[in-house]
Amino acid sequence: MSTAPPQVAAAAPSVIETPEYRDVWVYLQRDGDSLSSDSRELIAAGRRVADKLKQQVVGVLLGSGLKGIAQEAVAYGADRVLLVDDPALADYFSLRIVDTLDYLVKKRKPYSFLFLSTEQGKDLAPRLAYREKTGLATDNIQLEVDDYFSPAAKATYKNLVIQIRPDFGTRVARIYTPRNRPQMSTVRPGNFEALPRDPDRKGIVENIALPVKGKTYSAVVKEIRELPKPGVNLKDAQVVISLGMGILRDKSGRVRDPREAYRLVLKLKAAIEQKEGLKVEVGASRALIYAELKELEGLISKDNQVGQTGTTVGAQVYIALGISGALQHRVGMQRCKRIVAVNLDPNAPIFQIAHYPIVEDVYDFLPEMIARIEGSKNEA
Ligand SMILES: Cc1cc2nc3c(=O)[nH]c(=O)nc-3n(C[C@H](O)[C@H](O)[C@H](O)COP(=O)(O)OP(=O)(O)OC[C@H]3O[C@@H](n4cnc5c(N)ncnc54)[C@H](O)[C@@H]3O)c2cc1C
Repeated sequence: MSTAPPQVAAAAPSVIETPEYRDVWVYLQRDGDSLSSDSRELIAAGRRVADKLKQQVVGVLLGSGLKGIAQEAVAYGADRVLLVDDPALADYFSLRIVDTLDYLVKKRKPYSFLFLSTEQGKDLAPRLAYREKTGLATDNIQLEVDDYFSPAAKATYKNLVIQIRPDFGTRVARIYTPRNRPQMSTVRPGNFEALPRDPDRKGIVENIALPVKGKTYSAVVKEIRELPKPGVNLKDAQVVISLGMGILRDKSGRVRDPREAYRLVLKLKAAIEQKEGLKVEVGASRALIYAELKELEGLISKDNQVGQTGTTVGAQVYIALGISGALQHRVGMQRCKRIVAVNLDPNAPIFQIAHYPIVEDVYDFLPEMIARIEGSKNEA
């Protein structure tokens, strides 16, 4: 009698496709009477995914008095806009919005649904993902489309949206949410370039009546108060000069008062603004802000923070002073057109992405740079 184990044919890995789900939806936000600039970027992110999937980009626009904004979304790359324009949506109230989105998602079955990593996006996306019993990957900086073999399911999921974001250490994570649809993501503003506006672009704007009417909610909006706008506008700056922990000591290791570097940076800012007519803002690394130095109180705050948990900037010129270039900082500035990095350490990671790597003490660099710019002004 043979003792050989019975031969079992290995089951071929199956392929999972979800043709009943279609299109990449993007949740659009307004800025006054216009489409917000972040939403234009989100349409570009959706376009990137939809083109690979050979599907459409569908803008979802909710609110009151939205005339013209849907057409703007088409001009920036949406193929279709689902427009729910109703006075009941005049004030932001997340429960009503989620009810509306839930209705639309269940009825239309999108393949993927992208939100911005803004306050609204962070409020709405998790609530909706919970309702739809689907996964949500937050704070993405890039999106790709690829097949994914799941060892657990022993199956290949075709055409998954791969969601890419920095992890909590030094690496970039690729997140797979294969099992349910829509695949949902939030996207950090500042990581996609909006497509050029094409006013002649054709698209469909579908007017949809508010689906859930007259519902009483357990929460009530009593009053809406606008927060004061931050004094720093990093997003729209053409030049950002950022300070890091390197301003605390000079090349001889002597402790320096960080206000000295701050004052020099203000001088450099004024020189660039006067000479070049460019809008300059001061940024900072999170380490410098979280150090909560008494000397920098009232001068630098969270509003100045560049990076993964701060603002993403896309300036023409980014000047990093005494910043090592940790991944969490780089994801907030690596899209800048020209990066100048000043650091004593020739192996600092910031030099991997700097167009102008300068191995120098910030306390030597700043006076020299100011003198040169001011000097060139006199020559002009
Ligand atoms: C979840 C998470 C989110 C985060 N989010 C952010 C974020 O949004 N933004 C952010 O910036 N960080 C963020 N961080 C922190 C990040 O990992 C780094 O710790 C931080 O960016 C380091 O700041 P730094 O470059 O100023 O300091 P350091 O890493 O200490 O670098 C100081 C640099 O200065 C150089 N130096 C020293 N003296 C001089 C001198 N006299 N002249 C020139 N160079 C000098 C040194 O060689 C060194 O490279 C995050 C971290 C985590 C875990």
